[in-house]
Amino acid sequence: MGYDKDENGKLIVNKEQAKIVKRIYKLFEEGYNCSQISNILEREGVKGTKTYTVDFLTKKKVKNHGEVDQYFMEDSHEAIIPKDEWQAVQMEFERRDAYKDEVGLHAFGNDSSPFSGRIICSHCGKPYRRCGWSRNGKKFWMCASKKAKDASSCQADNIFEESIFEAFRVAWNGVVANKNKLTEKWDEQIESGTPLERLRAKQMKMMIEDGPIQTVIPEHVILVLERIIAYDKTHFEVRFLDGTMKRIAISE
Ligand SMILES: [Zn+2]
Repeated sequence: MGYDKDENGKLIVNKEQAKIVKRIYKLFEEGYNCSQISNILEREGVKGTKTYTVDFLTKKKVKNHGEVDQYFMEDSHEAIIPKDEWQAVQMEFERRDAYKDEVGLHAFGNDSSPFSGRIICSHCGKPYRRCGWSRNGKKFWMCASKKAKDASSCQADNIFEESIFEAFRVAWNGVVANKNKLTEKWDEQIESGTPLERLRAKQMKMMIEDGPIQTVIPEHVILVLERIIAYDKTHFEVRFLDGTMKRIAISE
């Protein structure tokens, strides 16, 4: 997939298939995990990517499909994925693995909420979990190591879901307000950062163009948010993937 041979046996890019490979990279860069990417492509009518998505992203050789590892960046032919982009994706893989280890997550991201796995308890370092039921008709989140009837477990506050959305919204609008100063930092990162830093800086510059937000869109969250550290139910530190941080106090 990705390349054909021309009449002289030279590899040429198969446009249709190259498009799918590029799309897989794009979705990964936008914050989706591998199973979400497969699902998105399946919904779009692209068949058979389930077993390949990870291999496309990591350039791993698949048994009986040795061709997989030549799709990307051999200098001898046109690269579908530029080297810089490929390196950024490998660094992002490592970042996600390190993050999962740090906070004790089995999977990176899921479909139930863009904030899943990204709200971290300041007291015990574990992620908050979204509770299936609500209090006063409001959805809330609870620290994963907190046990209702165990006083020795983590005693962190439960947080209303709307407070999480509000913290993100206020933090993002703070980034937008600080646009000029941050653009200097991003330009510097694009100039001399690692491939992943360059990617993040470009994404931030692109997102900031839309100006302040009124509502929080899931696609936006998974694209830019590294984590939100919850100090209590109204105090948060919002960390973005480019390294920008905002301390936020919201009213209840
Ligand atoms: Zn906790």
